Amino acid sequence: MHTRVTAIAFAVALLAGCANRPVQNAAPATAPAAAPATAPATGMQAPEAASGWSEKPGWTAKKFMVAAANPLATDAGYQVLRAGGSAVDAAIAVQMVLTLVEPQSSGIGGGAFLMHYDGKTVKAFDGRETAPAAATDKLFQTPEGKAMPFIQGVVGGRSVGAPGVLRMLEMAHKQYGKLPWASLFQPAIKLAEEGFAVSPRLASLLKTEQYLKKDPAAAAYFYDKDGNPRPAGYVLKNPQLAKVLRDIATGGPDVFYKGQIARDIEAKVKTHPTNPGLLTATDIAGYQAKVREPICTDYKSWTVCGMPPPSSGGIAIAQMLGMLETKNIGRYAPKDGMLNPEGVHLFSEAGRLAYADRGRYVADTDFVPLPGNSVKPLLDKTYLAQRAALITDKSMGQAKFGVPPGVNVAWGTDTSPELPCTSHISIVDANGDAISMTTTVEDVFGSRQMVDGFILNNQLTDFSFDAVDANGPVANRVEPGKRPRSSMAPTLVFDKATKKLVLSTGSPGGSAIINYVGKVLVGTLDWGLNVQQAISLPNFGSRNGPTELEQGHVSEALVEALKAKGHNVRVMEQTSGLQGIMRTKINGEEVWFGGADPRREGIVMGD
Ligand code: GLU
Repeated sequence: MHTRVTAIAFAVALLAGCANRPVQNAAPATAPAAAPATAPATGMQAPEAASGWSEKPGWTAKKFMVAAANPLATDAGYQVLRAGGSAVDAAIAVQMVLTLVEPQSSGIGGGAFLMHYDGKTVKAFDGRETAPAAATDKLFQTPEGKAMPFIQGVVGGRSVGAPGVLRMLEMAHKQYGKLPWASLFQPAIKLAEEGFAVSPRLASLLKTEQYLKKDPAAAAYFYDKDGNPRPAGYVLKNPQLAKVLRDIATGGPDVFYKGQIARDIEAKVKTHPTNPGLLTATDIAGYQAKVREPICTDYKSWTVCGMPPPSSGGIAIAQMLGMLETKNIGRYAPKDGMLNPEGVHLFSEAGRLAYADRGRYVADTDFVPLPGNSVKPLLDKTYLAQRAALITDKSMGQAKFGVPPGVNVAWGTDTSPELPCTSHISIVDANGDAISMTTTVEDVFGSRQMVDGFILNNQLTDFSFDAVDANGPVANRVEPGKRPRSSMAPTLVFDKATKKLVLSTGSPGGSAIINYVGKVLVGTLDWGLNVQQAISLPNFGSRNGPTELEQGHVSEALVEALKAKGHNVRVMEQTSGLQGIMRTKINGEEVWFGGADPRREGIVMGD
């Protein structure tokens, strides 16, 4: 089935060069390579840890293409595209398989954002989880009013928000589906019934996971009778999920939102022995997906469209690009296999400034308006030029939030530490329609609660645990019905002149998503890399703390050069899960070129 997907061997050589790694053989990415986990990062919480590095070749196709984080999921999307399905159809098939084979990252018990392009317009679909009607801003606080330890908030019923994935996909399918809804569930149902081989990454995460086995349903599924986690290659069957998917396939999402499944979720959440939650079947029944106006801004000769609030991803990336445009970061492309310290410096400083505004201003705009009640002040070119002017030869250390034109809001600063899990899907169909979808249960295995064969999210811990600070209420505090602020940044890029799609990309990675996706945009648009090279480039950037560089992939010379510029450098694990599809000319012919993250198990398929 991979015969029509061409592996581009030369890309590997280039890639090894710019990423400063030894050249490896181009392997057709048929199966994820088992690799030992790398050393844990010091001081950073990263529950979905790295599970190795397996070089990805980059793939080309002429008509359609799908990139996802697991080969079985990619294949499901590929089969749908071959059968004439739309990008949305394929996304549904991919998501259902991911629910089964990558339960640590996403699923029908979680939430997602989907950017859609139909050849003319871009729409942003919002399937973010919502807080229960009974939630208050004390949800994640101790009786003394202090923020509780993060993991205490995560594990159990407390962190579970009303899932949004199925309602969002239903909405997108009503508008852009071509194949029948029920048919899109068949690959996942078959795999759930007949079993799938546990992937090396799932196995390695099960091995290090401490909380999942405390949930009896999860323990019975993911562990053997002696409590040993299922090893890589073990054929795991999930008849409960098969039944749920079969019911949703025939009865539609109402089966999930208005029936027994919603009641099962409520019971699970409420009866957790130590950390019960507030979510009810009524909250779930009332869940609504939304279509939002995407954030589209011009960057050099492109238009970059990103996800608006409740994600902070689109705004932060647009701010970074707006600042970097004034600094001409294109001059600092990686050379002779080395990241250019000046490029890393500029990118990190722009990141600090963008993250400072993000922490201050961005939350669910249905509850908390942006400054000026619009994205415009934060993206105002003059404002961004003023912000960029704060970038000098030396690192500014910690950036202060700015005050966009004509605005004076006093929000407190957000204290939520989002943790890296999640999954990204990019698809282009034969019609030229495209999606970029990032989907999540938040932390690794979400709330560690399993119900009816799937994992429940812990998305509510993306709210700020603190509700106020000296400046006033925190924009991203918990409120009933509100969506927690996200960093997910599904992105579509267009040629400004021709309006043609150039790139679909996105990544998991908690709040570092903004830097991961920003790296791919700068890598492709400014530094002329192909999308695989840009994905494979070492991760770097700052979230307005230290300047973070990817462990095992950066040179001592880079670290020293940044230190000389005053950067507080932290070399750490940075497990992105980037996927991307880019319009590229090869030998004079326009093709789709796909890339998957060597840090995870993704592959790309297409014809
Ligand atoms: N919950 C995070 C968000 O919505 C995503 C977590 C991750 O990517 O690992 O931004």
